[in-house]
Amino acid sequence: MIIAIASGKGGTGKTTIATALAQTLSEREKSISFLDCDVEAPNAHIFLKPNFTEKKDVEMLIPDVDDDLCNGCGRCAEVCQFHAIVVLGGQTLVFPEMCHGCGSCTLVCPENAITEIPQVLGALKGGLTSEGINFAHGLLNVGEPMAVPVITKLKKWDERISAEVVIVDSPPGASCPVVESLHGSDFIILVTEPTPFGLHDLGQAYQLTKEINIPAGVIINRDGVGDKKVGVYCEENDIPVLMRIPLEREIGQGIAQGKTLLEIRPKYKKEFLNLYTKIQELAGDAR
Ligand code: SF4
Ligand code: SF4
Repeated sequence: MIIAIASGKGGTGKTTIATALAQTLSEREKSISFLDCDVEAPNAHIFLKPNFTEKKDVEMLIPDVDDDLCNGCGRCAEVCQFHAIVVLGGQTLVFPEMCHGCGSCTLVCPENAITEIPQVLGALKGGLTSEGINFAHGLLNVGEPMAVPVITKLKKWDERISAEVVIVDSPPGASCPVVESLHGSDFIILVTEPTPFGLHDLGQAYQLTKEINIPAGVIINRDGVGDKKVGVYCEENDIPVLMRIPLEREIGQGIAQGKTLLEIRPKYKKEFLNLYTKIQELAGDAR
């Protein structure tokens, strides 16, 4: 089962939930993988502390135009959906930061003036945690805008996605990298906090789960910090509230020190086991 943990905004406790669930299930499932898809700022390794033993660069093929062969016909620019290659004043220019590496321009070039050269976007790192969790994360190079190819490669790296349980820690928001992270999941946990911002961003994230047709439920973190509108929203939209974690200073302090929720409050293990049972039921009902 692939369980993705997402949130409409950053800082809601998404990684806190993902790491606690992974630690809980590592004691009862035969194989468990953890994929930190928040490739712009991966941080789950701080808590799960894997022993990284594998590393792999993520590359994308970017067109390179031979000016001597190019006749300026503009077919490459016409076919590019991303305006990453243009013909200006008889010269063909490539904007690598906008290129999605689809290869269409190379295919249509009548003069074979385009070759594709690999560009390193980031890296994947993997290793086992002390609990036996098969951990991996992606890390996008600084200033590199293309998160999606790194996430795609991370999800296909080795056999991790085939584990009995796969925990996917998604980036925050509702943009393309989030969609790529959530794609193929059996269930999505949306983590939010009971504040007006939390409610607003939860609405967007929930709409996304409906559009991609994956069942979802909500965990309200820092319960008690704001108002009751998130709970009302969930009730009105028939969204299951899977768990509430009250606002506690000790939890915040422990997380700031790199401890997982289970290390700070071991009593949550039982709640996360119950959470997994609920998720299995909800994911099964949706099939
Ligand atoms: S399609 Fe080829 S020949 Fe035509 S402008 Fe592009 S690179 Fe030049
Ligand atoms: S590889 Fe695709 S995205 Fe990149 S410039 Fe060519 S057509 Fe555009």
